[in-house]
Amino acid sequence: MRKGLIVLLLLGFLFPQGLLFAVENPYDYPVSTVIIDAGHGGYDPGTSSAWVFAGGTIFERDISLDIAKRVYALLSVIRPDLQLVMTRSDDTFVSLEDRSRIAYTTELPLKTSALFVSIHVNSAENNEARGFEVLTKKQGKSVTLLNSETPTGNIVLYSPFTSVQLNRFLNNRNLVIAKTFEQVLAQKLESSKDRGVKEQDLYVLNASRMPGVLVEVGFLSNEQEAQNLVSPQWRHSVAEAIVQAIIQCL
Ligand SMILES: [Zn+2]
Repeated sequence: MRKGLIVLLLLGFLFPQGLLFAVENPYDYPVSTVIIDAGHGGYDPGTSSAWVFAGGTIFERDISLDIAKRVYALLSVIRPDLQLVMTRSDDTFVSLEDRSRIAYTTELPLKTSALFVSIHVNSAENNEARGFEVLTKKQGKSVTLLNSETPTGNIVLYSPFTSVQLNRFLNNRNLVIAKTFEQVLAQKLESSKDRGVKEQDLYVLNASRMPGVLVEVGFLSNEQEAQNLVSPQWRHSVAEAIVQAIIQCL
């Protein structure tokens, strides 16, 4: 019996890919790090409102940054143990490549995982369109988990697995997180329409080596929602809802 166990352990050490039950799914580790990504910025304004409010035209880049900062502030008080990283903290342009690079080059404490949360504002030609959407990476898109930029500490997370296994784990975790976000946002933002979870071919999600979601918090093309988004109180409620969703995912 004991001999058998030793042989099994030895095999697990020599061929970890072949003995999946002997190693843990790296995405099941507790979340230590949240990457908060405010969409657009600088010369990339994102979408804009069709109406001019007292303060002028409203741009997505300003709303996403404001909500991201609120998420950061709230989360750092509620969960001071978390490592929080913002891909931008002012009105500067950050390329999509740099956003995902910031995320995957952040070193994680041993046996922990991370969560990538991107905040955007929607628009549509039909100005009746309204509500929030939770976007998730396309299941069919594969992420390269290990390359020369992977921090040494993170290599141990991925190295016992093949890229197919890791992508499967990542997709499963992504869906759980997206559904959690949808549930919490629907609960906390009662007056907002739940447009559901959608798979989308988006760079920041496809390139993310960590589980992640992109939240479209409302439509600037809808007059009522644009009015909501201009209100600091509404943006604060959205930030609180996102924080609750993050906490639920931990
Ligand atoms: Zn956007």
